[in-house]
Amino acid sequence: MATDEKEKTMSFELPKLAYAYDALEPYIDARTMEIHHSKHHAAYTNNLNAALDKHPEIKGKTIEQILADLTKVPDDIRTAVRNHGGGYFNHNVFWSTMGPKSGGEPKGPLSDAIQSAFGTFAAFKEKLSAAAVSQFGSGWAWLSVKDGALVVSSTPNQDSPVSQGMTPILTIDVWEHAYYLKYQNRRPEYIENWWHTINWNEATRRFEAAK
Ligand code: MN
Repeated sequence: MATDEKEKTMSFELPKLAYAYDALEPYIDARTMEIHHSKHHAAYTNNLNAALDKHPEIKGKTIEQILADLTKVPDDIRTAVRNHGGGYFNHNVFWSTMGPKSGGEPKGPLSDAIQSAFGTFAAFKEKLSAAAVSQFGSGWAWLSVKDGALVVSSTPNQDSPVSQGMTPILTIDVWEHAYYLKYQNRRPEYIENWWHTINWNEATRRFEAAK
């Protein structure tokens, strides 16, 4: 049993949300949140652990360390780690940078950095929303720090900016599973509503840690 316990503690775990599934209503509905977290994110987590089980030497690294250089991941699990490890990490960032009674605009150092990188908060909002709307098919839009500066980007599938040398600050999931039950094909409407859920305290914490 000791071996089982050890393996268990070395696996990645689906994080508990800091808020209830219905806490982001009316912007993101409870049913979508429940399926997204308890089914989709759980599956990425389980599939990542199953891949890593084949190469115990990788265990003990953080997910950021693993994703930062996928060329170091063994060939036979590289695609699984890219997809499911990316899915595991990307959703961790997504959940933690949302919350109830949120939205509005950031204050302090992140506000200053956004103005210095994009001119105004409105210009930043337009740029990140455009990246999210125009990501073809499934993927993500991101605010990240790269070489000390804020950048907006998007990634397809479950690719993560961590694999491109960036530190994610904020993200929006634009896979259909993130919005289809409530918004059907209306991705721009989902994105506009997501702005009301942003936990700027957590985004600011991530920004300060990235500097
Ligand atoms: Mn998702």
